[in-house]
Parts: sequence; C-alpha cells; structure tokens
Amino acid sequence: MMIREPLVDSYGRVHRDLRISVTDRCSLRCTYCMPEDGVPWLPRATMLTTEEVVRLADVAVSMGIEEIRLTGGEPLLRRDLVDVVAGLSALDPAPEVSMTTNGIGLDKNAAALREAGLTRVNVSLDTLRRDVFISLAKRDRLADTLAGIHAAAEAGLVPVKINTVLMRGVNDADEDVVALLTFALEHGYELRFIEQMPLDAQHGWDRSQMISGAEILAKLRTGYDLTAQPDESRGSAPAELFDVRPWGAGPEVEPLGMVGAIASVTMPFCGSCDRVRLTADGMIRNCLFATGETDLRTPLRDGASDDELAELIRASIGAKLPGHGINEPTFLQPPRPMSRIGG
Ligand code: SAM
Ligand code: SF4
Repeated sequence: MMIREPLVDSYGRVHRDLRISVTDRCSLRCTYCMPEDGVPWLPRATMLTTEEVVRLADVAVSMGIEEIRLTGGEPLLRRDLVDVVAGLSALDPAPEVSMTTNGIGLDKNAAALREAGLTRVNVSLDTLRRDVFISLAKRDRLADTLAGIHAAAEAGLVPVKINTVLMRGVNDADEDVVALLTFALEHGYELRFIEQMPLDAQHGWDRSQMISGAEILAKLRTGYDLTAQPDESRGSAPAELFDVRPWGAGPEVEPLGMVGAIASVTMPFCGSCDRVRLTADGMIRNCLFATGETDLRTPLRDGASDDELAELIRASIGAKLPGHGINEPTFLQPPRPMSRIGG
C-alpha cells in the first residue's frame, strides 16, 4: 500500500472524492445535457481501458481519494463495467465505489455490480409521466429507468438516491414535482433536486429559465412540510437537506423521510468542494467548469511512472480556482459538455 501526501489545493480544500467517467456514450438525450441528435462520441482509441482506469485510480487512492463515483455518459453502456467496479474495489486502501446512472439496464446488472463491490447508486429520474419523459429525454424508456431503480434497491445498492433536474414548462408542474417526492418517500429512496447548470452540449442554458433551489422548495411545499436539517450535517455534500412531514404536521411528528436541493448555481458550495474528475479519455478536470484539463492518457501510454502521474494530478489540483464563476460577468461555459465530463 503506497501512501502519498493528500491532495490539498491552494485554498486548503482536501480532495477525497474522484468522479470517473467510464464512457461518454448515452442511451438518452436529456435536453439539459445534449441535443436530440446527440454529440459526436469520443474516438474509441482515446478511451481508457479498464486496466488504465484502475491504475490511475490506484494513484489517486494513494493521495487520499476515499470515494469513487462512476459516471458518464451512461456508465451502464460500458460492457466491462463489472470489471471496472471489481478492479476499483480491490484497491488498497479500498475506496467506496458508487455510480450515477439513468438506470436503463440496471435491472439486469444490479446484482453483479453489487457482487463486484459497488455500494450504492444515484439514479436520474426527472418525471413519473411517460409523455414528459419522452419530451425531456427523447426516448421512451421511463419503464426501464423505474425497473432499474427498483432493482438497485432489491440488490442492496442502498440508499438509492434519485437525482432530478427540473426544466421550466417541461417537468416542473407543482403536482408532478410533489408526485416525485411521494414516490421517493413511499419506496425509501432519497430524492435530490439539482439546479440546471450551463453544461449542455448545445449551450442552451438560460439563467432566466432556470428553476432555482428556492423555487423547487416552494413547489415541494405545496404538498409537504419541509424543515431544513442543521447545516453541520452537510459537510462537503452539496445537497441542502430537509426533513419531510405531512402538510401541516408539527415538529413532534416523525418525518416521512428527507429531500435534498443542490443549488449549484444560486448557492454555490465551491468553498467545501472535495471533488476531482477523470474523463473517459483520461483527462483530469479539477472542476466541472474548468476551461483547462490535464492529460493523463498520453503520459500513461508513454510509460510514465506512478510518481509522475501523481505529480500531474497534484499540479491540476494545485491550480484549482476558488469557485466556478457562473455568477461572474466573465463566465464562459467550458467547451466540454456534461456527458463528456461526468456529472
Ligand atoms: N447518465 C447518467 C445519469 O444521467 O445519471 C450519468 C451521467 S449524468 C451527466 C450525471 C448527472 O448529471 C445526472 O443526474 C444528470 O441529471 C445531471 N446533469 C446532466 N446535465 C446537467 C445540467 N446541465 N445541469 C445539472 N445537472 C445535469
Ligand atoms: Fe445521458 Fe445522463 Fe446526459 Fe441524460 S444526463 S443524456 S442520461 S448522460
């Protein structure tokens, strides 16, 4: 077991969470992520092999990475995903390995992924209405996503978290938003709403159309009573959490569950960010919104040592900016879209 100095940036933030995108390909076309006709996929030859992913993760783990989240694109489209999970879970010290997915196909793979070491999943679900799902994701796959969510719970990939992005005039009707919360509470899933960020491939994000965290909470409060949980329980987690009680119930009533709001745009949490990202083509990104990135694939394939790779990762974190700057007049959307970064 090799232990290196932790990954601390120049603002004192210690990095413990690595997001690894295992593919940029996807089975859906969520409007807030990519256009209906998709984006050109990264060339196959640039994609890291399982062995390469595990080697880079091993270096990252030696620098204090404790949690690895697999993402994409849609990670379930990677054929050797079970091998990736098994390789990461076998690292020493062993990181916690989780995954963010649209759930399509998870019903067939949940048990094998759990067996390989996956601990839990976040499944994206923006609506419970088939027509709305089709208009938002451009594919008729709601039933597959729901089957995936239930299979994850059955396989013990818990707590199952559900990520929802609201888009104005598409899936934001108060009763539909409340219905998502009811669904999550009934099944014991943890629902978290994420503000739409300027990361879509078609650069269609418009601040005036974005549904803010405050607006999301107001929608939820048309159906339930929400009480903010104390801030200390949040740590570096981006979600502001609320206890959910039946409408009009007092604080003495046991909560039905909780709900989260991730207000990345209106209430940035950059000050406590502990995340670093590795793209499917082997680039380190120190922020979702970074305009630059560090190529690890080329040195890796050219025979770089673990120490050399570690220094490249450290230099990337060392150059991390204090915040994403979305609210600054000089903000520029990064050229790399969400599906090629890994959310
Ligand atoms: N395909 C998987 C999925 O959808 O869960 C994993 C990759 S996806 C890029 C990761 C997460 O990012 C999803 O929860 C998705 O809803 C979210 N996401 C994508 N584009 C977004 C955007 N522009 N703003 C906020 N969240 C976004
Ligand atoms: Fe695919 Fe996830 Fe992007 Fe939707 S958000 S298009 S499921 S990568």
